Amino acid sequence: MSQIKYHRIILKISGEALAGEKGTGIDPTVIKKLAQEIKLVHDMGVQIGIVCGGGNMWRGETGAKLGMERAQADYMGMLATIMNGLALQDGLETAGVPTRLQTSISMRQVAEPYIRRVAISHMEKNRVVIFGGGTGNPYFSTDTTAALRAAEINADVILMAKNGVDGVYTADPNLDPKAKKFAELTQLDMISKGLQVMDRTASSLSMDTHIPLIVFNVNTPGNIKRVVEGENIGTIIRG
Ligand code: UDP
Repeated sequence: MSQIKYHRIILKISGEALAGEKGTGIDPTVIKKLAQEIKLVHDMGVQIGIVCGGGNMWRGETGAKLGMERAQADYMGMLATIMNGLALQDGLETAGVPTRLQTSISMRQVAEPYIRRVAISHMEKNRVVIFGGGTGNPYFSTDTTAALRAAEINADVILMAKNGVDGVYTADPNLDPKAKKFAELTQLDMISKGLQVMDRTASSLSMDTHIPLIVFNVNTPGNIKRVVEGENIGTIIRG
């Protein structure tokens, strides 16, 4: 019997993690692999909520830089997260994992509306709940959504799945060979050292809720399971 340290988790998957080598769009092969990784943890009885990003398709900030109205561009980003949610749902269901997609922007034909108590009830019935549409508000991010949903559903931890990076470093490990990985940090350390894992709104919410965040490399097979079992393979950031 494997030991479970975190029984209810929020897994934050950035849009980039769904894009594969091309860096944009959705790669079904990547989704398939990820679904198997999530299935491993689901089979252990862990309750899973997933917040997906949308950066593989669109970011509001990019649109705003190109002269679009920021809020309008942000709504486009939120819709991108719902497309990613549908792709993840497809991958998970194909792998035999029951899911529900809930969105903060109503889209009755394709997803349930986000209702906190219904989400918790789904998780208690061992359905993976995918949270699409971000917070439903422009000017926010899916990192903030992860911090918010984690607090709302009483998650034990937020797992920040990174693409190839296995934690938080003193400097960019790709550029500086002397860069050292932190095993543990606080959200205050992150702000004072100018380290960026999530945006400031998300950090400050995590500081209030005290829900720990673990940054780890999702590309190594078995890593989600390792983190859930409490293995120290990434960086833990406490609120
Ligand atoms: N977004 C938003 N409000 C939210 C969450 C997301 O407006 O609550 C928009 C925002 O434009 C953002 C885009 O959706 O750039 C995609 O989300 P994010 O950048 O967080 O995705 P990730 O970087 O994780 O792929």
